[in-house]
Amino acid sequence: MIVMKFGGTSVSDATAIKRSISIISKKLKDKPVIVVSACAKVTDSLYKLINCIETGQKEECQVVVDGLSARHKGIIEECIKAGGYKSEPSTGDIFATIDKICNSLWTLSKAHLNAQIPDSDKAYITSMGEYLSSNIICFMLNTFGISTAWVDARHFMITAKEYMSASPLVDEVAKRADKVISKAYKGYDAVITQGFVGVTIEGDPTVLGRGGSDYSASLLGMVLDADRIEIWTDVDGIRTADPRMVENTRGIKKISYEEAAELARFGAKVLHPLCIEPAATKNIPLYVLNSMNPGGDGTVVLNRSCIFDGIKSVSYNENIRVVSIYSPKMINATGFMSKIFDVFGRHGVSVDMISTSEASVSVTVDAKQPLEEVVADLAQYGKVTVDRDKSQVSIIGKNIIGIKGAFATIFEALSDCKIYMMSQGSSFLNLSLVIDRPEMAAIVRTLHKVFFENGAE
Ligand code: ADP
Ligand code: ASP
Ligand code: MG
Repeated sequence: MIVMKFGGTSVSDATAIKRSISIISKKLKDKPVIVVSACAKVTDSLYKLINCIETGQKEECQVVVDGLSARHKGIIEECIKAGGYKSEPSTGDIFATIDKICNSLWTLSKAHLNAQIPDSDKAYITSMGEYLSSNIICFMLNTFGISTAWVDARHFMITAKEYMSASPLVDEVAKRADKVISKAYKGYDAVITQGFVGVTIEGDPTVLGRGGSDYSASLLGMVLDADRIEIWTDVDGIRTADPRMVENTRGIKKISYEEAAELARFGAKVLHPLCIEPAATKNIPLYVLNSMNPGGDGTVVLNRSCIFDGIKSVSYNENIRVVSIYSPKMINATGFMSKIFDVFGRHGVSVDMISTSEASVSVTVDAKQPLEEVVADLAQYGKVTVDRDKSQVSIIGKNIIGIKGAFATIFEALSDCKIYMMSQGSSFLNLSLVIDRPEMAAIVRTLHKVFFENGAE
């Protein structure tokens, strides 16, 4: 059994979906469990819908809902127009499913217009992209001769109650997934389900957070003991830097679970940071492949013993905040750090880099995390400042401290740049720098050049 996850761009329109179906058709002997994201930009539209509802823009809500209906029906019509199926497909049921989903969005829009939407309803709304995509792709797979069963991820993806960014309850998922998927498989060539979507034990809708379909796929791979997990996306595997930022990137053939997790955590959007751990737990190879170039080299993520030491990639997080707490009381005080981190922990804000001096401590956090309450609470311990104009750049690679000359190369290349904070990850996998945001793109390109271009290794 294998798990194949297709991201938003791999299912964005009729052409992309047909390409993905052709990839699936070559893997049927491996018994694929297909996990899909919403079609590209659909989740963004659903977030927009939430905003329009809460701000009372009734007409705009209607525009968004009608647009989703038209887009998904349009994809089906385009596929059918192109032909290639055995008998004329009937669209009655699938159009009725799309209407049902869109009507439910419209009903919720009217019910909550101009009011705060409860989190479980927000999770319901944002999950509808995956329900739409999984239904239309299932219809198309069957139309093109791959008999495919549709499975509701809410029958097995049990999560805690964080609704919009929920943590799966792994034991509960494990208890249900195998039974649900094996039962669905009987008599079919493949099974399709939704990424990103979850549910509480009580049955309330949740979602796993932005980009969470990778995590759904990897977790499913782990609990089903998959032979491999394939993440199909829009790039030829994990690369030496984000190809949208740097021109001459190279593909990475093999990378360790730890390096891939560090890359994702320190900004590389190609994988969700939490999707590595489930694969690593069962030592399942995780492939990152390009649905636009299925024959191309991808990346395989493996156990560290199969991976050479060395710098693999440069990543970045453009929008970070540096929170600094200055407190003369900290001098010679014990327990100060634990109080500071307790504040971040209580508010669920995760910290990436840390640096301390005698009377102050600075940490970086992703700018998407709300900071107001953290700052208010920290004020009892000292003077708090928040710097909003910084970015973080990281160099990732196994045993980075053992690589002769690596740090000298970095500092020589950046000798004209201001470096505000520096942190060498405790697992010797990364060196991260805080720099001025306007300089970020140039710094990423410079570091890529010195490590991966001009014959550099
Ligand atoms: P999907 O919709 O398939 O989940 P994403 O947009 O989430 O795809 O992730 C793919 C994107 O990740 C690429 O288009 C690329 O811009 C970005 N990316 C960032 N860093 C890297 C990297 N080191 N290697 C490959 N892609 C990267
Ligand atoms: N559709 C969700 C998002 O856009 C989840 C995913 O694509 O992984 O964030
Ligand atoms: Mg993604």
